[in-house]
Amino acid sequence: MGYICDLQKRPEMDIFSQIAPLRAFLEQKKLIGKSVGFVPTMGALHDGHLTLIRESHRENEITVCSIYVNPTQFNNADDLASYPRTIVRDIEMLESVGCNVLFCPSNEEVYPEKSIIKFDFGTLEQIMEGKFRPGHFSGVATVVSKLFNIVQPSRAYFGQKDFQQFKIVECLVRELKFNVQLRCVPIQREKDGLAMSSRNMRLDEEQRKNAIVFYESLQMAKDRLEEGLSMSFVREEIKKHCESKPGVKLEYLELTDTLNFVQRESVTSKAILLIAGYVGEVRLIDNLLLNEN
Ligand code: AMP
Repeated sequence: MGYICDLQKRPEMDIFSQIAPLRAFLEQKKLIGKSVGFVPTMGALHDGHLTLIRESHRENEITVCSIYVNPTQFNNADDLASYPRTIVRDIEMLESVGCNVLFCPSNEEVYPEKSIIKFDFGTLEQIMEGKFRPGHFSGVATVVSKLFNIVQPSRAYFGQKDFQQFKIVECLVRELKFNVQLRCVPIQREKDGLAMSSRNMRLDEEQRKNAIVFYESLQMAKDRLEEGLSMSFVREEIKKHCESKPGVKLEYLELTDTLNFVQRESVTSKAILLIAGYVGEVRLIDNLLLNEN
């Protein structure tokens, strides 16, 4: 990747691929009192990511974005291999919203030796993404811990799109006493309601039309729960609705409370509906907060 070298000076953004020069750069900034906001991503950026950058920009003097497709959070080798990579476009997008620093390390830089640490988040990861993607959250926690130690930000920005991931990172920060404030930024959607995702670019025209079924299902489920129907009933109904579309497979639809992330049969306190499934080979997730007020 010839266009990336450490301390390369660009009009808007400094780009680092190595840890030591990034640390030295940020230490200098912190010494003169600059606050640092951090947005970890896996690249193939879209407007959802840019909202996180804008939010960081609003609250901090320096915004650092990382682009790193973390192999330890993929439990499926094909999924890792087919994950979209669009670094040249990503750099342009980051510059367009005034991101100050990009960190895009190699696997050798992040994992110079095979990682042997494993995280276990107990009940937090026994459902949904944790259940269907074994080892996923251990990989997420490993890379987030590394990145937090490297960047040492005042604030870090995550999307509500990956709500279970946010709960895991909250737990990680609380238990390991990372000195960082976490922000959860609302989901950015396409005009028709489809949650923006890097994986959407893998959908063909027909699949893109059908992908809306997950957001549609969240809204249908919300209405049905409000009518007083139980979650078990609603789940069956939604499964039929999803799988009436060609190539669509529902993996899970769950209702949990937002605080402790415990599964519910009906909406009691603040709750969230979460959905995951496939359109063809592409796995998509989405969620909807209930009782927000
Ligand atoms: P990713 O590159 O998919 O790992 O995502 C990086 C960050 O962007 C995560 O905190 C995601 O939750 C967040 N994100 C992804 N999609 C969206 C979206 N549509 N709206 C808001 N945030 C998002």
